[in-house]
Amino acid sequence: MAKNDDTCACCTCGYEWKRGLHGGHSCADRLLSKVNKLRSFIETQALPALILAADDYPLSSAAKMALTDAKALLSETK
Ligand SMILES: [Zn+2]
Repeated sequence: MAKNDDTCACCTCGYEWKRGLHGGHSCADRLLSKVNKLRSFIETQALPALILAADDYPLSSAAKMALTDAKALLSETK
């Protein structure tokens, strides 16, 4: 995929390379790294914030759903 005249980008993982150079890379490695970053964010920031909020305030149905979905996503991506 052409990003601009000088740069190409992989549609799957976002890897970028200079036009004319070899663009070989591992989508799987890059996607795994992204999954791990998202997992870390959910585990260390999003979930604790939701759980803390649940202690202090009644959660809306949307927040309860987000909490349930976040926990499910974590278990699915292990
Ligand atoms: Zn890729």
